[in-house]
Amino acid sequence: MMLTRRAALLGLAGTATLGAARLSGDPDLVVVGAGSAGIAAARTAQAAGLRVIVLEAMDRIGGRAFTDTATFGSPFDVGCAWLHKADDNPYTAYARDNGFTLRAHEYDLERVWLGSAPSPAHLVNEAEDAMSEAISAAPEDVAASLVADVSTQVGEAAGDYLGALDMAVDLDELSTFDYANADDLAPNFLCAQGYGSIVAHRGRGLPVRLDTPVRRIRWDGPGAVVETDAGSIRARAVIITASTGVLASGAIRFTPDLPVPTQEAVADIPMGMLAKIPLQIRDQRFGLEPFTDVLLARRGRRDLYFLSFPFAGDLMVGFVGGDLGWELSAAGEAAAVDFATQGLVEMFGSDAARSVVKGALTPWASNPWTRGAYAAASPGRYGAREALARPVGDRIFFAGEALAGGLIQTCGGAYRSGEAAARAVRAVLA
Ligand SMILES: Cc1cc2nc3c(=O)[nH]c(=O)nc-3n(C[C@H](O)[C@H](O)[C@H](O)COP(=O)(O)OP(=O)(O)OC[C@H]3O[C@@H](n4cnc5c(N)ncnc54)[C@H](O)[C@@H]3O)c2cc1C
Repeated sequence: MMLTRRAALLGLAGTATLGAARLSGDPDLVVVGAGSAGIAAARTAQAAGLRVIVLEAMDRIGGRAFTDTATFGSPFDVGCAWLHKADDNPYTAYARDNGFTLRAHEYDLERVWLGSAPSPAHLVNEAEDAMSEAISAAPEDVAASLVADVSTQVGEAAGDYLGALDMAVDLDELSTFDYANADDLAPNFLCAQGYGSIVAHRGRGLPVRLDTPVRRIRWDGPGAVVETDAGSIRARAVIITASTGVLASGAIRFTPDLPVPTQEAVADIPMGMLAKIPLQIRDQRFGLEPFTDVLLARRGRRDLYFLSFPFAGDLMVGFVGGDLGWELSAAGEAAAVDFATQGLVEMFGSDAARSVVKGALTPWASNPWTRGAYAAASPGRYGAREALARPVGDRIFFAGEALAGGLIQTCGGAYRSGEAAARAVRAVLA
């Protein structure tokens, strides 16, 4: 009975109509997730002549790349914003070719407050450079906190900026090898229309079925059967791009279970947290030029970074990361907006609070289809990335930012990972 319903809905033995795409019979490949990696996997597989369907749990494509234009009346990147390693980023040329406006912007600190005292920003930048070298030189895969010097207030600020606000985990949860093997991400660009808009543009026209969470993948017979609430679909291979947080949650069941090394790898690359708290500011710029990078560094990992008024708009985009990011995400939007507003007051005086007309909190911690911001291998577990990259039974492949080599944690890296997974599928199916 259930099987009949599935067949009717998703074309197990018939024809599936998926938005613009129409597919007769079973596809070669099901891609789970229409974020950056899923879009790349689908494009690459299609270009190789494979028949593809993308199943996406959310009501939109893009995943953690999403530009919201409604909340503030101007583009706000809820997820990724910087095109990292822009000279080798698959989105850079695409954005330029399609009329998007890019602007170079590194995130070296320009204004720093240590506690409530303004302090020379270059001291924190230099301390971060030294810390970066020390972590990268660590001979063993241990927690970065064991090799980073955070004994001074400047060192602590540098550690919070490098750990929580960049890698999305505090230094005691940052693997030295994970950090050392990540590429230097310069040059970095921002996009006036939003990075999420570029990714959504890149995904246009693909055969994506929205609002279709994958619940189970059966790989006990030939190929794989992908089960959703709307029915099942059989394919020769599956590429899963869901985050490690989603995988660890058990939202996708596997029959039979995934091999133990794969399960362990998922557990060893948990999600970190970076939350944005954009504040809309009226009639006030606090003497800051557009794009100024500001750090309010407090003791006890309570740091708040602001990207000031990007593209001369009216947003001070606050960021918190690591444990503080999780904590404020759990506390909710009102508490987070209050926290960020208080940060402005500490730096610019009590009048600053009156200029905040609206605020928001990004929802990546509570979104069941992300369950975090981006993944960071646990100390001592750097090898898990390689373990997760291994295909299962020559038909289940993983892709996404967690498997992006030197470009881990990035949207461009996720794209490259999706491309690589699709090429691997093509090789196996051939
Ligand atoms: C706050 C924040 C700031 C960031 N800043 C930057 C930045 O400046 N620059 C940068 O390069 N990167 C940044 N990133 C990281 C970047 O956004 C991600 O690395 C990248 O977008 C991940 O792409 P992905 O395809 O691997 O995963 P996702 O974008 O998560 O795509 C996976 C998709 O799978 C879907 N899915 C999950 N489970 C299921 C299921 N069971 N069935 C069907 N579909 C499912 C999800 O809904 C999602 O759409 C940031 C991320 C966050 C959260």
